Amino acid sequence: EESYDEECDYLFKAVLIGDSAVGKSNLLSRFSRDEFRLDSKPTIGVDFAYRNVRVADKTIKAQIWDTAGQERFRAITSSYYRGALGALLIYDITRRTTFENIKKWLSELRDFSSPDTVIVLVGNKSDLRQSREVEEEEGKTFAESEGLYFLETSALENQNVEEAFLSMIGRIHEVLT
Ligand code: GDP
Ligand code: MG
Repeated sequence: EESYDEECDYLFKAVLIGDSAVGKSNLLSRFSRDEFRLDSKPTIGVDFAYRNVRVADKTIKAQIWDTAGQERFRAITSSYYRGALGALLIYDITRRTTFENIKKWLSELRDFSSPDTVIVLVGNKSDLRQSREVEEEEGKTFAESEGLYFLETSALENQNVEEAFLSMIGRIHEVLT
């Protein structure tokens, strides 16, 4: 268990974005506490979690913000995006609409955040192979066209979750130093 008060060299804020039920909260709980819930409740308001990560001899405290997915339809508080150095833009590979909505999330993100914000596109639920509606290649092609990093993950099977967060955090560190 990492101590909350452990010394850190940097504090990074990053945000999770994407439609409801794509798996934002489970990706965060997997990354921060190695927990997964099949019956997870919709997130109310804004939640966040911390994890300390070692990058190039430095300790980075990553503060990851999570919110409910419906917020695109209300006035999103700019405070959610304010100061975010990174974002995971998440869709569900078994629901095509969540992938189509990525364009809207991306444009909102670009409106509210700084041009240096590191963005990773994440296709979650890669374990549900039989129900796939978005091919990995499509995610990859879209990410390349927008200059984003891309990964498919499974919060359930703990596939690529570390990689998704750590690639974002590592890249933020590179941009800042
Ligand atoms: P959020 O609304 O984006 O925060 O989504 P949640 O994290 O609450 O997850 C919504 C539902 O999808 C829950 O029933 C989760 O158990 C499920 N879920 C999340 N990630 C995965 C995954 O990687 N694989 C599978 N099979 N289910 C997942
Ligand atoms: Mg949630």
